[in-house]
Amino acid sequence: MKKNIGIEVKQPENTCDDINCPFHSNISLRGKVFEGTIVSNVFHKTVSVEWERRLKIPKYERYEKRRTKIRVHSTPCIEVKPGDKVKIMECRPISKTKNFIIVEKI
Ligand SMILES: [Zn+2]
Repeated sequence: MKKNIGIEVKQPENTCDDINCPFHSNISLRGKVFEGTIVSNVFHKTVSVEWERRLKIPKYERYEKRRTKIRVHSTPCIEVKPGDKVKIMECRPISKTKNFIIVEKI
C-alpha cells in the first residue's frame, strides 16, 4: 500500500501498526521539512535529531553556526540508529515535546 504523505519520499519496506506512523495511519503531515542527524535514542519511538543552520550576522558580514536539536517521533517501520541522516516533517503535536516525525532515512 502506498500513501502520499505530501512530499516525495521513499516508502518504507516494512509495515507497522503505530498510530502515529505517517505511512500506516491517518496522521497528517504539514509544515516544515528538515534534514538532520540522529544523535540519540531518547526512549521508545523517540529520538533526538540535530542539524546545523547558518545564521547571518549582518554587522560582521559572516555566518555563525548554530545547532538545532529537537525530539522526533520514530516509527517502527523506518529503522534508524544514532548517526543516521534522516528527513523529518512537522505534524500535529504527538506529545508535549514532539511534533516532528521521521519520514525518510537518507
Ligand atoms: Zn509505519
